Amino acid sequence: MKISNQALVYAADYHYSSFKLECESKLNDKKQGVKMVNELMKYIKIDFLRAYPLFTKPLLVDLWWIDSEGNLQMIIKTTELYIYLCNKDRYPNELFNFKIKPNPPAHLPLQHVVILKWVRNSIADNDIREELNMTYKSIHSISTMNGTLNNRTRHVKIELLDKTEYELILNNKKISLMGQMFDVAEFLPAPKILICGRCNKPGRTKRICQNSTFDICRRCGGDRSNAEAHNDCQIKCHHCGGQHISTDYKCSLMEEFRRELINELKKHPEKLPQHIQLFIPTEYRNKEDKTKYIQNTSSYQQKEQNLNLHNQIIWPTLTYTSQDMNNPMNINLRESVRLLNNELQEMKKKYENDLQKLKDKYKEHLDTLNQTWLIMHQQHQTSQQMLTVINNNMKQVIFVTCLKATRTIYEALNKIKTNNNDYNEAIHQLENQIEYLQEAEFFFTTHINSLQQLVDKQNEILNKALDSLFKDPNV
Ligand SMILES: [Zn+2]
Ligand SMILES: [Zn+2]
Ligand SMILES: [Zn+2]
Repeated sequence: MKISNQALVYAADYHYSSFKLECESKLNDKKQGVKMVNELMKYIKIDFLRAYPLFTKPLLVDLWWIDSEGNLQMIIKTTELYIYLCNKDRYPNELFNFKIKPNPPAHLPLQHVVILKWVRNSIADNDIREELNMTYKSIHSISTMNGTLNNRTRHVKIELLDKTEYELILNNKKISLMGQMFDVAEFLPAPKILICGRCNKPGRTKRICQNSTFDICRRCGGDRSNAEAHNDCQIKCHHCGGQHISTDYKCSLMEEFRRELINELKKHPEKLPQHIQLFIPTEYRNKEDKTKYIQNTSSYQQKEQNLNLHNQIIWPTLTYTSQDMNNPMNINLRESVRLLNNELQEMKKKYENDLQKLKDKYKEHLDTLNQTWLIMHQQHQTSQQMLTVINNNMKQVIFVTCLKATRTIYEALNKIKTNNNDYNEAIHQLENQIEYLQEAEFFFTTHINSLQQLVDKQNEILNKALDSLFKDPNV
């Protein structure tokens, strides 16, 4: 069995489901397709660049073709564009006079899908969503991975819109759900098999099929021109006679083809896109070579060349003439995006400068304030010292000397007064004076002591306040 280039490219194109534009009146000319795709890109451009202002690559669809029903099919590999066009509201109602109904893929590219392994069935998809939403904001969908459900556990597919979050979740390697840890892995698909829509054989498309002149029913193997007659026909594979539909992966023809395809891909990994790893199911691994993955490790340019070569063979490529890329509207738009971006950067710089100035000014102000506090504190301490000196002088000099002098005069007068009553009046006055001085000293001391206690407490609080002020100048 010979494996065509078409089948090899298709094996890895698994990752990009097509965007279908259902057209009310059917397309039948390649030129209509070119115009529609160009028109669509022109229509979304302004809004797209608003959503992704830093997107600088040309806005292109990677592949497109008109399918057998006369609808437009597009393959988009640019993640930003893919995610942008997943939203149906972003399409116009008609393109180039054709009424259209957009049909974007329900799932994100596989580079945006991670697998949570062996999740207990008692944990529902909604529980997972609720818990993950607390950490990851860009979850697009959560679903059970096909063929992994058993009666206890399943693998869960998680699609993330944001590439950064996707990488974050993979780097963490494990995720905790309901207090239990689960392994996280990237989603690696097996090579996909291209099947002819006419003869149901693997490896070619209907467009170049020469095996049959009519569409063959996958169930009974008869002529399917009258589709309604085949809703309930008997299932018997027309390749091998087995009890399955003819496109079933169980069919020996499909199995044989898949084995050949994997061998061919192993021999020519350079035919795979650079960023894609394909998973080799266990039953297709060699006994000697237990490799689990096929991956392209050749240089980037080589890959590009190969891909372009194949693309041209299979699908008409979208030709953007240099005229189109340079048309005034595109230039204006690119120019204004660039200008807006510059303006934004300048505003950011100015804002940062202003912020720094404000900070400096605040710091200066705070320093002055602190200096003032220090001076006031010192002044306060000086006046307290002055008061202490005055206080001591009062107690030790004024009161003591006054009392002593008064007592001396009193005693002297008593000695010289013998039989002389002339001094009685003076002696009595001196007695009163002594009593008054003693009382005055007592009240002065009591009062000054309680004032001193108050000042001590105030000092303690002031020192604490000053300490905290200098420790943390931003408070
Ligand atoms: Zn065929
Ligand atoms: Zn049938
Ligand atoms: Zn079969």
